[in-house]
Amino acid sequence: MKIHEYQAKDLFRRYNVPVPDGQVAFSVEEAKQIAAGLGGFPVVVKAQIHAGGRGKGGGVKLAASMEEVEAFAKEILGMTLITHQTGPEGKLVQKLLIEAGQKIEQELYLSLLVDRATASIVIMASRDGGMDIEQVAEKTPERIIKVYVDPLMGLQGYQIREVGFGLGLPPGAMKSFSGLLSNLYTLFVAYDSSMVEINPLVLTSDDTVLALDAKVDFDSNALYRHKDLLELRDLSEEDPMEVEASKFNLNYINLEGNVGNIVNGAGLAMATMDIIKNAGATPANFMDVGGGASSEQVENAFRIILADPKVKAVLINIFGGILRCDIFAQGVVDAARKTGISIPVVVRMEGTNVDEGKRILADAGLDLIAASDLSDAANKIAAAVN
Ligand code: GDP
Ligand code: MN
Repeated sequence: MKIHEYQAKDLFRRYNVPVPDGQVAFSVEEAKQIAAGLGGFPVVVKAQIHAGGRGKGGGVKLAASMEEVEAFAKEILGMTLITHQTGPEGKLVQKLLIEAGQKIEQELYLSLLVDRATASIVIMASRDGGMDIEQVAEKTPERIIKVYVDPLMGLQGYQIREVGFGLGLPPGAMKSFSGLLSNLYTLFVAYDSSMVEINPLVLTSDDTVLALDAKVDFDSNALYRHKDLLELRDLSEEDPMEVEASKFNLNYINLEGNVGNIVNGAGLAMATMDIIKNAGATPANFMDVGGGASSEQVENAFRIILADPKVKAVLINIFGGILRCDIFAQGVVDAARKTGISIPVVVRMEGTNVDEGKRILADAGLDLIAASDLSDAANKIAAAVN
């Protein structure tokens, strides 16, 4: 689960990770009030969306006066901000962070990530921070240093120094950096984060470091342990279809292709996506209704997929184990009756009560395409969309 920059910075403050003074604003008036309270200029006006690259997209502006704060706030609030992370449709800006401008000596990069391959927390840092970090990673990857922290040992003093020296920090800034990194690590672990990124981490003229930007991503599977984080969730930033699916406990992820698919079990879902690709088509989603789905869940899964305009055909691939084929078939029939089917639907079903399931589908008089096995299903779905 992602949160906004202003929320991440509130969390940073609680863990003594230094950030500039500032507050969230929902209107131009509020933006001006907050700016007045900061006691000087420049003031930074920043779009709050769940995507990076805002600076390059025109979503971060430095205001030298109250007139400029007003002008920038008017311009950015309500704009559709397009960055390399939002996709071409962009994201509507509904809130701003109004912050005290900083005198920047140097822009650095610092992040913490869970590294599955080494089962550790990796600290990544670079002295080439700022808006072109993607290019640094691509063209001069040796300028990004990595330090692996064993989660059982925790972050060690020598590792902090290794990162600090790697960043080329002046000796006077080491104390400030050491506090920042160890507090950031504590926060990372305490909240089951999967990623914390500060880009830029800035070095100021008085040899202190602070987080000018803040991105945090939490492991959604651990949210039950952090009820306070649930309040920070912003549904307007999430894919509306994924939000709808999560209401029914469906594992749904929106993808780019045009073949909608409904499957039970994550492994079967992955295999089904592979056979769709193999047959020359592209999946529009990942939809796992789970091992023990009810016919109501199946109905909602089908309804959500049919509501997706990019879906040109649907492949239903079910192995009836805990989820019986007759229950599944009833869900499909109920959904089809309510929504109506105007696109080809290929069904492949095997397992418990399969004959009963097939009878329910046949008796319903729906226009479904039956497949005898997996490869038959793949060929039929590819033929339907190509
Ligand atoms: P992002 O583009 O979405 O990553 O947004 P950032 O929060 O990183 O801001 C983009 C850029 O704006 C930063 O890399 C800085 O160069 C600049 N910026 C942000 N805040 C300040 C500030 O207080 N003072 C100055 N001089 N520049 C700032
Ligand atoms: Mn940034």
